[in-house]
Amino acid sequence: MIKYSLHCDIGHEFESWFASSDSFDVQVKRGFVTCPYCQSPKVTKAIMAPNVARKDREGATPVPANDQQPANLPAPAAPPQGMALLNESQQQLRSMIRELHEKIVASSEDVGASFPEEARKMHEGDTPARSIRGTASFEDARALLEDGIPVLPIPDLPEERN
Ligand SMILES: [Zn+2]
Repeated sequence: MIKYSLHCDIGHEFESWFASSDSFDVQVKRGFVTCPYCQSPKVTKAIMAPNVARKDREGATPVPANDQQPANLPAPAAPPQGMALLNESQQQLRSMIRELHEKIVASSEDVGASFPEEARKMHEGDTPARSIRGTASFEDARALLEDGIPVLPIPDLPEERN
């Protein structure tokens, strides 16, 4: 296995392992190697020699002459570091939303389309207070809120949109 320092055509730097130098060449040609930041398949080895060659750096170069990089590469752009964090927090958010959705569904009575009516009756003390859920039009929901009845939309399950 050889670890190569790589960069894409807009300068993101990353590292990847390959079975051999040939394997690297083949995978790049087929577009299997992509930048983890921007998914660009235009990936080349960084000027830095592969780690495996460090033992005998003074010896024969493991990089074929026709594979060497031009000396005037553009300075690498700062990698967009928020990417991994964003994905992680989105996943957390998704599971929080799913949990919230399940809790609301598990702990409330489904009154369906009579939700606005039931909510109002409960608010006015005509029926005992309890947790209910159901459907309301945007207008109904706004009217309830304007009357000081604290309804809230049940969050959509993110997966359902996928
Ligand atoms: Zn990139």
